[in-house]
Amino acid sequence: MDRDKILLTPGPLTTTLRTKLAMLKDWGSWDADFNAVTARVRRSLLDIIHGSDSHVVVPLQGSGTFSVEAAVASLVPRDGHVLVLDNGAYCKRAAKLTTLMGREATSLEFDEAQPVDPLALETYLQKDTSITHVLMVHCETGAGVRNPLQAVADVCARFHVGLIVDAMSSFAALEIDARSTRFDALIAASGKCLEGVPGMGFVFIRKEVLAACEGRSQSLAMDLYDQYVYMEKTGQWRFTPPTHVVVALAEAIAQFEEEGGQPARLARYTHNYETLVAGMRALGFKPFLDPAVQAPIIVTFHAPDIAGYDFKTFYAAVRARGFLLYPGKLTQIETFRVGCIGAIDSHAIKQAVHAIAMALQDLTLSN
Ligand SMILES: *Cc1c(COP(=O)(O)O)cnc(C)c1O
Repeated sequence: MDRDKILLTPGPLTTTLRTKLAMLKDWGSWDADFNAVTARVRRSLLDIIHGSDSHVVVPLQGSGTFSVEAAVASLVPRDGHVLVLDNGAYCKRAAKLTTLMGREATSLEFDEAQPVDPLALETYLQKDTSITHVLMVHCETGAGVRNPLQAVADVCARFHVGLIVDAMSSFAALEIDARSTRFDALIAASGKCLEGVPGMGFVFIRKEVLAACEGRSQSLAMDLYDQYVYMEKTGQWRFTPPTHVVVALAEAIAQFEEEGGQPARLARYTHNYETLVAGMRALGFKPFLDPAVQAPIIVTFHAPDIAGYDFKTFYAAVRARGFLLYPGKLTQIETFRVGCIGAIDSHAIKQAVHAIAMALQDLTLSN
């Protein structure tokens, strides 16, 4: 079939035709027209979190992880100590990259089926005064848990430690308001809930901590302070920008604004999520998480109870019907994940559930 497969994944995501069409043009990286697009994108990103008074935004080439790594390297002093609030795979990745950047990292571990606990953070910070920064993941895409950003930010503010937030899979869908939530850095990317194409990340940095970031990064390409200073001075990116990604993001942001911004996006994803879970439950699938801690971003389901089940065969049977699932990322039990995000609505989700029902039939019949 000609139709692109629908991506039920945590990124890359299904994008609109309008976003894809924005890429059919070449741009000079030094050209005023392209600089204007970059400037417009940066203004819009700050508006989404009401952050233009308190924060700057620094775009960076690469996938989302590049920007998490850059944020740690640019924000945390070389002798700093990062406490990672760990309730899943993306937290573990953040802890690993912090260690690789040469910064001391300690993990405070939580159950992957539960949000991180601000009270446990408070208790920890009382006894370990060497912590300079806390690193948290807003929506833990591993299982799909929504973590309590505001409560963690409040604890960090009270203890005067910096907060670095990986908001990759929540930004533009869950509410984030820089006027009421205090963070030093918050990271997201083009190819997630903004529904652009993948290829650039961006980091919001609190203006008060920006000057201290000079010279902290041990990497040239990932130095957010340098990128910021150069961009402010010239309007250009330091090194070759992902031009097509940037113009596609500008077009995706225009559609995000037309749709009604973050509240409208959250409403659409929530409807997708509810449609998905209702349909899957009717097929006998059980979500892994308690609905009370679930973000409407990506849902982990227990693998179906079919003798000889394996994800690859299941994936292929669903794929043949036009939908791409995502493997599970839990350590102990067999699961798979279904994303609710991207330029899709509940009709696409209903079709996906139907495809899954037919795939199940295939698997059961071939037994
Ligand atoms: C997608 C995602 C990332 C970035 O992953 P990349 O593959 O580098 O784009 C980081 N953190 C979370 C929570 C994510 O969902």
